[in-house]
Amino acid sequence: MMINQDVLPIADGVYARLTTPGAGWGLSNGGLIVSSSGPAAWVDAPYDRRLGEAFLAASTPLLAPGAGIDTVIVTHGNGDHLWGASVLPSAEIITTEETLHHIEYDPDPAELRAIVHSGASDPTTRYLLRHFGGFDWSDCVPVAPTRTFRGELDLRVGEIPVHLRAVGPAHTGGDLIVHLPEQRVVFAGDVIFASTDEQPGDHPVHWAGPISGIIQACQDILDTGALTIVPGHGPLLDRDGVRAHLTYLEYLAERAQALHGAGLTAYEAAQRLAAERRYPELGLTERLVVTLSSEYRHLDGETQAPDPLQIVTQMARLAWELEAQG
Ligand SMILES: [Zn+2]
Repeated sequence: MMINQDVLPIADGVYARLTTPGAGWGLSNGGLIVSSSGPAAWVDAPYDRRLGEAFLAASTPLLAPGAGIDTVIVTHGNGDHLWGASVLPSAEIITTEETLHHIEYDPDPAELRAIVHSGASDPTTRYLLRHFGGFDWSDCVPVAPTRTFRGELDLRVGEIPVHLRAVGPAHTGGDLIVHLPEQRVVFAGDVIFASTDEQPGDHPVHWAGPISGIIQACQDILDTGALTIVPGHGPLLDRDGVRAHLTYLEYLAERAQALHGAGLTAYEAAQRLAAERRYPELGLTERLVVTLSSEYRHLDGETQAPDPLQIVTQMARLAWELEAQG
């Protein structure tokens, strides 16, 4: 699999790592913060070791002479923002306490590899192989956080102030946003799956919710006053881009509530929204099953943990249905 991963300067000492928008699952964005005095940090890591090594090779010429990446700030516990950090075995890995728990119960790289490459021919395995088969986790060791916090945490990367704020549950149970007040930049993690007219992205996929929590997190991002927002996936956004994403989220919350009230299941609601084609430019429409299932759990007041395999199975089924419809 050929993956473009650009590292672009976006402010003084700050770089965005951007993958091709709308390119599908697992192609995450992140960032690099470089102080003039030496210390440097990544915001998130790519999905596998090969991509991690490519990001490290792109980062190294941007560092002060002799300096390395000391810190990785992890916005949430999904592997596509974490596992490539295995190329930095001595870095401090900072995230929220909730994300530490998330990492402990999610499949690790070897477990996901076994699922994706099980050789089974059911639709779910075929879906996973098609969308995740190009990543190589054979030499990815699990990455464990070394420092966690609740609420907020003020850091410095050399002379650069960095403010971390826990905003979960939103995309996952433990999301955080990274605010660089002097550069007016926010790294949003997967609170935002971005899309613009010029660079359409994919439908967001939210595993925790409620959508109101994600909306609040987007509002928190705007409230920082940031001018440049690096989403977890998709193109860079300005403030209007975040507002446009809020419109998407509000639409989704409203339709979920209406269809839930009308007695449709989460799966039927996803079929309905797919048929309505309100956002035809976005890819991976089947992800609506995941986000709507999360939202339904909140609307139903469910407290039991969801079965991710069951939700992924439904998502693969909807992908198959949509493809059969053309
Ligand atoms: Zn992601």
